[in-house]
Amino acid sequence: MSNVVIEVSDLAKRYGSLNAVDGISFDVKANEIFAFLGPNGAGKTTTIEILQCLRRPTSGIAKVLGLDIANNGNGKEIRRRIGVLPQDFNGLDRLTVKENISLFASMYGRARDPDELIRLLDLEDKAKTRFDKLSGGLKQRVGIAAALVNDPDIVFLDEPTTGLDPKSRREVWQVIQSLKQEGRTVFLTTHYMEEAERLAARIAIINRGRIAAIGTTGELLEKYGGDRFLIIEDVLSEKLSRLKSQFPDLREANSDIMIRVESLKDVSQVIETLNNLGVNQGIQIRNPSIENVFLRLVGARLTEEGKLA
Ligand code: ATP
Repeated sequence: MSNVVIEVSDLAKRYGSLNAVDGISFDVKANEIFAFLGPNGAGKTTTIEILQCLRRPTSGIAKVLGLDIANNGNGKEIRRRIGVLPQDFNGLDRLTVKENISLFASMYGRARDPDELIRLLDLEDKAKTRFDKLSGGLKQRVGIAAALVNDPDIVFLDEPTTGLDPKSRREVWQVIQSLKQEGRTVFLTTHYMEEAERLAARIAIINRGRIAAIGTTGELLEKYGGDRFLIIEDVLSEKLSRLKSQFPDLREANSDIMIRVESLKDVSQVIETLNNLGVNQGIQIRNPSIENVFLRLVGARLTEEGKLA
């Protein structure tokens, strides 16, 4: 089988006059965690619901596990081989964790053992707890268990950690990493930059229905992440002139100065030079960041709430 499990070419979805998905192309490789990073309304859910054969595209081609979504007969087979955590996942409040997972499992002819999923999601202590008594993070873990009942090749997670506190978010991240370790492919949508950066092998930055850039985190940082700087705080004026003669390109920002360094290797050399000039304290490194990548490509910042600012 080819290494590519999702192929999308010039895919578009119009709602009236709105181009919700506006001609996007990308591939997802087997066993990678692939992230769609973008603000609310960027077209993330629309894209993944097209791939799940829940919505029809206006135009373009998409293949999931080699199966063309345009062929009506493929919908059933695709859904049999994928798992989905929808953005608005909700279990049944009055049922326990185990009853919920068993219920989802009962919808499939061949399903994984609910106890095995409970172990995998580290939910043993909560197996007999009612769904409505769970924290947001635990509810999402039940949702991921539900997405795994059919032992899917590809798992779609639509904003799996939106609204969670940082600790629960980290727990869900661990689960997502374990999905990869199990050999699955993960298609993640998120508006959290840190989430995409931490988890994904490749990130597509999506805004207004278009992919602004796509690549490994390293590639995006290299291309759009901005320069690497050493920042030296509160430089005394008598040292400034010596620094200026050594580093003619240095930038002054308030009482700080910034020295651009080409690569990580150069950092230690520059620090040594600084030490020789008597600057030993208040030195910080500012690396290229995914925040900068986003800002450069989209022209706005992505807030915690998933808005552009
Ligand atoms: P969110 O995180 O808010 O769900 P998203 O990136 O998943 O954002 P989509 O839900 O795909 O974005 O929505 C893309 C655009 O299409 C939005 O402007 C949305 O309002 C619009 N839209 C989505 N579904 C429909 C629909 N059924 N009818 C009309 N417009 C729609």
